[in-house]
Amino acid sequence: MKIFTTRENLHNYLDERRLNNKTIGLVPTMGALHNGHLSLLDFAKSQTDEVVCSIFVNPTQFTDPTDLEKYPRPIESDIKKLESAGCDVLFNPPVSEMYTANETWHLNIGHLEHLLEGAIRPGHYQGVTQIVSKLFNLIEPDIAFFGQKDYQQVLVIDKMVQLLNMKVKVVMCPIVREDGGLAMSSRNVYLNAADREHALVLSKALNLAKEQFAHHTFTELTNLATDFINTEPGVKLDYFEIADGDSLYPATPLSKKIVALVAARVGNTRLIDNVILS
Ligand code: AMP
Repeated sequence: MKIFTTRENLHNYLDERRLNNKTIGLVPTMGALHNGHLSLLDFAKSQTDEVVCSIFVNPTQFTDPTDLEKYPRPIESDIKKLESAGCDVLFNPPVSEMYTANETWHLNIGHLEHLLEGAIRPGHYQGVTQIVSKLFNLIEPDIAFFGQKDYQQVLVIDKMVQLLNMKVKVVMCPIVREDGGLAMSSRNVYLNAADREHALVLSKALNLAKEQFAHHTFTELTNLATDFINTEPGVKLDYFEIADGDSLYPATPLSKKIVALVAARVGNTRLIDNVILS
């Protein structure tokens, strides 16, 4: 696996690959890799010739400085995982390579910025579009792979690609779960044994909503899932929403795609998860 830490070296290498008619796949991550990330790599390997994984803990998308500071950065074990997974290129730049001092950024992504995760983490999606646009401009991937785990993020990236006429195709890959159903996340390392037990309530509530989908109204389903989560000790619910899968506004009977999304604090760790209901 080739490892680059500068834009110039990465760019030169990818230019040469493109001249050889290789298609380029990109898997952007913040590292602390788990099987969810590696599944994106597998999708990328099956659909493109040269797979680039980026590991960059992007400061502009963090709303909580402590969260940024303590974010896990196990780069040596990440490199081993990427090598075993057959990744072609790792791009692991320092912050100074991606940002100049006092940089500003704003992209009008409309209501998606302010709903759900956006409401709880103001500015988060500006940071996400800022870094992902830089990665897209630098790497010029044919296809970029993102996880359904961050469902709203995929919609935000789709919106950015559309607004900026970017040529990249965005592919959303399914959520990989631990035994028991907990969605894999780099933040799961913060969960102690009791938290892990409590955290299972989130995927169980999503499954409950899916099982009961045909038998209840959206409000009834939301109440059912919310009550179920609220009975679990150690879990503080931020939201459980049944939303239109394209707009993330509350679902209506006319919604073509419907998704249930949940976010909660388990112990000191904030977790998100979702399931596509129809
Ligand atoms: P992160 O490193 O958390 O920024 O995640 C990098 C990419 O991996 C994002 O596109 C995530 O949606 C995706 N991802 C994270 N967790 C999972 C998971 N459990 N299953 C599938 N994809 C995931």
